Amino acid sequence: MRNYDVIIIGAGAAGLAAAAQAQSRGRRVAILDMGNVPARKVAASGGGRCNFTNAAASANRYFGQNPDFVRGALARVTPDDILDWARGHNISWTEKSPGQYFCAAGAAAAVNALMHDVDNVDIFTNTFVQNVEHKNNEFIVSTANAQFISQSVIVTTGGTSFSTLGVSDVGYKIARQFGHKIIPVRPALCAIKTSIFDSQLAGISLDVEITVGGERIRDAMLFTHFGIGGPAVYRATIRDFDNLYINMAPGIDVYDVLRVAKKTAGRKSVASVLSDILPARVAKWVCPDVRHIADYRDDDIRKIAQRVNNIIIPHNDIKLHGNISAEVVRGGVDTSKVSSKTMESKLCPGLFFAGEVLDIAGDLGGFNLHWAWASGRVAGQNA
Ligand SMILES: Cc1cc2nc3c(=O)[nH]c(=O)nc-3n(C[C@H](O)[C@H](O)[C@H](O)COP(=O)(O)OP(=O)(O)OC[C@H]3O[C@@H](n4cnc5c(N)ncnc54)[C@H](O)[C@@H]3O)c2cc1C
Repeated sequence: MRNYDVIIIGAGAAGLAAAAQAQSRGRRVAILDMGNVPARKVAASGGGRCNFTNAAASANRYFGQNPDFVRGALARVTPDDILDWARGHNISWTEKSPGQYFCAAGAAAAVNALMHDVDNVDIFTNTFVQNVEHKNNEFIVSTANAQFISQSVIVTTGGTSFSTLGVSDVGYKIARQFGHKIIPVRPALCAIKTSIFDSQLAGISLDVEITVGGERIRDAMLFTHFGIGGPAVYRATIRDFDNLYINMAPGIDVYDVLRVAKKTAGRKSVASVLSDILPARVAKWVCPDVRHIADYRDDDIRKIAQRVNNIIIPHNDIKLHGNISAEVVRGGVDTSKVSSKTMESKLCPGLFFAGEVLDIAGDLGGFNLHWAWASGRVAGQNA
């Protein structure tokens, strides 16, 4: 059996951030990870450029049963702290939109910096944790062929989305075993499978407004061979939603445009008029009929306009494209029995949770990694 002060399960963003803090306090730390290398999601993040923080990180950009839970960690670890950390490692950055920070030289810069910070930590890769027991104030962490003993355990096993990178639900099992509730897990920040659109539209991207739960999201949407994706759709899926309402021509009253065209360009087809507003293939999907626009009744024109300004995707025709595209999950370890100041379990002293394994999911834009760094650091400062 190997003996440590702190054992961290999962060498992802939160686990490595926690390890660096625990190491700097002189704790003997081990990280156990099932993958062949640490930080695989960080390496894949932001399309390989790692959107590592966002200046707007605050509770209103997080989702879960209690998004206010993030306040404690976010007050202790701010986006400026993360920029300082990046600066300290000579990571240069670019801003995609103001305050949305990516590694200019790619995600490897972030991975290298994380690894540099844990030079005194024993990292065991290809080590799948199966079980954790708590006996005589010690934790016994078991893998297939070894056991590790520690005073504290930090569970940073992440979410179960994007399974091609290697994920497990062991973090949820450990939490349950110690009496924690698991909020049901579902994919989020992902594409949607729906029968509404034609697969022929695949590859077209356009600026849309999606209304979800009363909130309007303005961003790019991408047609795929199975439905829709792109930032606007990803952002919609992190929210609680029922039906989705898509406006493919935000700010344009298409009914007005078509009625004017009926009077001034009556011999044009509807698709030809719409192609001034939409990509031609999308315009044809909206109205494949080649009749002159002058031949349409206003009522029909109104219905066509709705197919641009207010496409309704009913809830029962939305399938989250989970394991393939989801960047995170909604749900996870219920935060009500975890201290927001220390990340320690209120049910089992010495047991900590951080990162995506908790019922906290951030918006698109660097909020999830920020949460992983912030909650991981706080856990590492207290374990
Ligand atoms: C493709 C993609 C792109 C993304 N891009 C961004 C982005 O640009 N910005 C952003 O903010 N967020 C992004 N995210 C989300 C972000 O990467 C995650 O929210 C974040 O990595 C979560 O950190 P974590 O440490 O909690 O979990 P993870 O980083 O997922 O780490 C969990 C670790 O636990 C290990 N593990 C799990 N079970 C076991 C077990 N039983 N035994 C041992 N080890 C185990 C895993 O191998 C893994 O290394 C992206 C996600 C994906 C999938």
